[in-house]
Amino acid sequence: MIQYEGLQSKKVLVLGLAKSGVAAAELLHELGAFVTVNDAKPFDANPEAQELLSKGITVICGRHPEDLLDEGFEFVVKNPGIPYTNPIVADAVGRGLPVLTEVELAYLVSEAPFIGITGSNGKTTTTTIIFEMLQQGNLKPLIAGNIGTVACGVAAEAKADNVIVTELSSFQLMGTRDFRPRIAILTNLYEAHLDYHGTFEEYAEAKFCVTKNQTAEDYFIYNADQQIVVDYAKKSKAQLVPFTTKGRSETGISADAETIYWQGEAILNRVNIVLPGNHNLENILCAVAAAKLSNCPIEAIENVLATFVGVRHRTQFVREWQGRKMYNDSKATNVLATKSALTAFTAPIVLLAGGLDRGHSFEELREEMKGVKGVVAFGETALRFIEFAKSCGVENIVRAIDVEDAVGYAAKMSADGDIILLSPACASWDQHESFEIRGDLFIERVMKLS
Ligand code: ADP
Repeated sequence: MIQYEGLQSKKVLVLGLAKSGVAAAELLHELGAFVTVNDAKPFDANPEAQELLSKGITVICGRHPEDLLDEGFEFVVKNPGIPYTNPIVADAVGRGLPVLTEVELAYLVSEAPFIGITGSNGKTTTTTIIFEMLQQGNLKPLIAGNIGTVACGVAAEAKADNVIVTELSSFQLMGTRDFRPRIAILTNLYEAHLDYHGTFEEYAEAKFCVTKNQTAEDYFIYNADQQIVVDYAKKSKAQLVPFTTKGRSETGISADAETIYWQGEAILNRVNIVLPGNHNLENILCAVAAAKLSNCPIEAIENVLATFVGVRHRTQFVREWQGRKMYNDSKATNVLATKSALTAFTAPIVLLAGGLDRGHSFEELREEMKGVKGVVAFGETALRFIEFAKSCGVENIVRAIDVEDAVGYAAKMSADGDIILLSPACASWDQHESFEIRGDLFIERVMKLS
């Protein structure tokens, strides 16, 4: 692409550090720009700023000076988490300065084409499956996003024969100006992040930025089972690739109970797919479509589907123990994600749930609780979850201290053929620093069962 070739000696402001700000500042610095970084965290407590300073980058920390923009920057790169209402961002917009997000900067300086994946759920899973397929097909993919490094981290090393596979949050997409992936994917659209976006329309608009600059040379893979997505897709100028899990379709990619079809033609048998659940079938359809459009050999696609056990902490198969299949879905920090996980299984489930109490209701899970034979609850919401499970008619219910303690109870409560599923429906911060740590503790304990 290389639309920003002339960065040499240009003055650029990077607003907000964290992973993406650091990567953007380093990339710009490498490309010869004069970079200034501004971050709210004081310098003494800001190892990232210290590191950047040691590389010769100007850092202003602990405050956002009102006259910051008077220095005359060419453009601003902002951390996706910083809202457009932020005074400096608003000032930049008012002065007519381009405000880029890190992903857009990566796009502008990179020689490699992009596959961009967005949606309320399934981004990381879909991104990872596509990466694995293209990798096995020797198509030189580079992965960016939640897994691995951020897009600016790979942009500098990407060559024209690479392809950058990256997941995109609505925060990253909002306000993109030029970003134009060769293949764009919208997995689904549910109400989320309304605290940041204000309205569902604004959130949906941000998601649709993934296709807004696409042309007839590009492809837009989208969820044809969601009417709102179908309505928006009509506005896309890309070649449309709808996906549906509701039976064979002549266009795009589709699936019935046994088979996956590409433009109406049977290409894969579902029997060989390891990843459980209809939600994952949606992710798989997106991934297969992207792989097909990238000319990935069908053997590579098949191999990945036959071996991929899930991204860590996302309905991830951990092990089989005495006839029980054990899954780690620690990423399910809300009720909707747990609902998806519960619908993924037909065998009886022993559910490990609970965590931070945000006062949220579990009612949405009532229908899916029919498949749950036992509950082990822990964390702040333990008692509330127990009450809920009782009201759903679950007979075996135990309270555990934490996730590790819960594994022992689940082992005792379960029988040959059952599913043991950690899918907490709550954030982890009451007992752990992150859902990753909660999931790791679960895996560790599960691997110790003898
Ligand atoms: P994201 O990156 O969008 O947060 P992940 O791939 O990390 O999505 O999956 C997070 C959780 O969301 C999973 O554990 C699963 O419970 C749920 N999920 C994944 N894919 C889908 C989908 N296509 N539709 C609905 N829920 C999904």
